[in-house]
Amino acid sequence: MKNLILLITILCVNTIFTQNKKTFFESPENIYYISSDLHIHSVFSDGAVWPTIRVDEAIRDSIDLISLTEHLEYQSHLSDIPHNNRNRSFQIAGGYVQNRPLAVVHGTEITKPMPPGHFNAIFIKDANKFFDNNKEPLDFRKAINEANEQEAFVFWNHPMWEANRSDGIAKLDPIHREVINKKLLHGIEVVNFDTFSEEAMQIALDNKLTMIGTSDVHILIDWDFNIEKESYHRPITFIMSENKTIKSIRDALFNGDTFIWYRDLVIGKHKNLKQVIDNNLKVVSKGYGYRDRKVEILQVELINKSVAPISLNYIGDYTFHNDYKFIEIQPKSSKTIYVKTKKVENKVNLEFEILNYVIAPKTNLKTIKTISIE
Ligand SMILES: [Zn+2]
Ligand SMILES: [Zn+2]
Repeated sequence: MKNLILLITILCVNTIFTQNKKTFFESPENIYYISSDLHIHSVFSDGAVWPTIRVDEAIRDSIDLISLTEHLEYQSHLSDIPHNNRNRSFQIAGGYVQNRPLAVVHGTEITKPMPPGHFNAIFIKDANKFFDNNKEPLDFRKAINEANEQEAFVFWNHPMWEANRSDGIAKLDPIHREVINKKLLHGIEVVNFDTFSEEAMQIALDNKLTMIGTSDVHILIDWDFNIEKESYHRPITFIMSENKTIKSIRDALFNGDTFIWYRDLVIGKHKNLKQVIDNNLKVVSKGYGYRDRKVEILQVELINKSVAPISLNYIGDYTFHNDYKFIEIQPKSSKTIYVKTKKVENKVNLEFEILNYVIAPKTNLKTIKTISIE
């Protein structure tokens, strides 16, 4: 059964892109941006829906990869849904997905009081092994060791959660340093549900942990993320993978090759966001002239190929004929600006700060676009 499910998930990953799916962000030719939500609950812990609903929701949202991460220590529906097999949620979702364009990988949430808090282990092989002979959950050190023995990718969940940190500030306790130093912890949520933590981002950068953003959804996804009412989608982690196999996706997660789309923000380390902006912001010359006059004003088209807005702050010396330095390009659209270059040039550099691309606390990505003029 286990091998069959593994086969199903691998086959699914290989067929993802042959189906009609939404492109969130354009990627380079040899890289795939795998859209994922790696923190999801169902009735098999404290969620309100059956695992198959999670599959349908994810497919509708053009998600490529999910993991149902049921709490090991907490099953609030146990009296109504008694079950001893902690792999059941994964088996139901993995069996239901069949040959549709979604991969389901096996995961679980190790759920301890703070410190250390909650941790997701994904790509696990058997959730039942996180219990001792008396069916008691393993203590934290044993559980994180078990996860690593199963070659799981382990990340720290919601380190900013106000129920655990009353000031909302993510910070490391000695136990966190211990598991980081032993390389038992590989990632950290910088986005969880409706929270974004700059402090968690700094912890990720300082300790080379992979940045993750998840929905941590418990009820219907549309009730938590009501796009019509609030225009917010679920947080999505994009995994920058060389190909569409589980192995490559897993390697990319361990390498820190991710970025997160949260509300209107794009969050990730410098190297990763640079690749995203290089492939999603195109700047092209439309030649000199303004209306029907031959003048030294350059018409430039700014094209946003992504689903997120691009919020620019121009930081060079030119001034524009219509606009101030703040320029917003809506998702999957373009905007024309008129650059006063004073004389006719054949090459112009425009340097921008991208206000909604976050590469470190209080730090935005910068980019220089070189425009060739025919
Ligand atoms: Zn949790
Ligand atoms: Zn959770």
